[in-house]
Amino acid sequence: MKQASNPDLTSRRAFLKGAGVATAAAATILLVDSPTAAASGTTVEPASEEALGVLIDLTRCSGCNSCALACKAANRLPLPNQAPTELDSDNFTFIDTRKTADGTEVYVKKQCMQCVHPACVSACTVGALRKTAEGPVVYDSSKCIGCRYCQYACPFNVPTYQWDNTFGLIQKCQMCYQRLAAGQQPACVAACPNGALKFGNRAELLAQAHATIDANQGHYLDHIYGEHEVGGTSMLYLSAVPFDQLGLPERDDAPSPRYAEAVMQMTPVVALSVASLATGLHLILRRRHMLADQRAAEATQQQTKGSSHDR
Ligand code: SF4
Ligand code: SF4
Ligand code: SF4
Repeated sequence: MKQASNPDLTSRRAFLKGAGVATAAAATILLVDSPTAAASGTTVEPASEEALGVLIDLTRCSGCNSCALACKAANRLPLPNQAPTELDSDNFTFIDTRKTADGTEVYVKKQCMQCVHPACVSACTVGALRKTAEGPVVYDSSKCIGCRYCQYACPFNVPTYQWDNTFGLIQKCQMCYQRLAAGQQPACVAACPNGALKFGNRAELLAQAHATIDANQGHYLDHIYGEHEVGGTSMLYLSAVPFDQLGLPERDDAPSPRYAEAVMQMTPVVALSVASLATGLHLILRRRHMLADQRAAEATQQQTKGSSHDR
């Protein structure tokens, strides 16, 4: 698949314009690394005042998949017209269809949560993942050594690995940081026809979400998922259905780097051995596939020769 490019936004120190939506409209922001996130194994400060986010109102989602398809187009991912059914290296978001006890379908957009204190960043020993002050958790493929610590550390099982690439890289939603740098909102938000996705300043989105809950007593749960879970996330959810029925795991408020600590306690030797073993198995399987393809091609060639002799 075509790899999404990862220019170094830190070195560019790109001044950004807010997305022109909600209260982030006129905001001019600077997309830089959070200073405390620059070194691997460190935690980040609480969400900065300019931190951006997306509020996902599940009561407005019709499951139309426009967001997921727009994500594929924006990131030049394969099978652009096929609605994804899971997160993988070719799909950075998908609509998870859940059924409540009374049989009602609920559509739940899933993607990287862009944690305020990302365990993936803390677990990455080479600084390939970074938290920006504005919210996106971004990835630099040139630094990645393929150890997959980030996969083990993530409390939401988000990062995926490109198994079909010998030099497999990690893939995940980066909150469309390139679009943000160009003054646009995330592609999924721009594509939603139902107003289920709202992009803006995280603190203001939280204030709006609380006001929405207060103004619609009984319609929404009095809980914004992502406000406090794992120390807060940039992706926030409003729902009428308890989140544990929607595949959004119950997480305490402790910052998620503690998940990373568990990974970091594995000795590098053990972790790298696991990674090497998995890579070795992958290469063996890949070679088997190649040999099978080669044999099939030879058989076809012989058949073709046989038919031309018969004529
Ligand atoms: S959800 Fe996982 S991959 Fe995304 S920022 Fe949080 S820890 Fe990292
Ligand atoms: S923010 Fe961008 S990369 Fe992330 S799910 Fe939306 S469209 Fe995809
Ligand atoms: S585009 Fe909006 S309504 Fe359609 S599936 Fe995505 S979030 Fe739901």
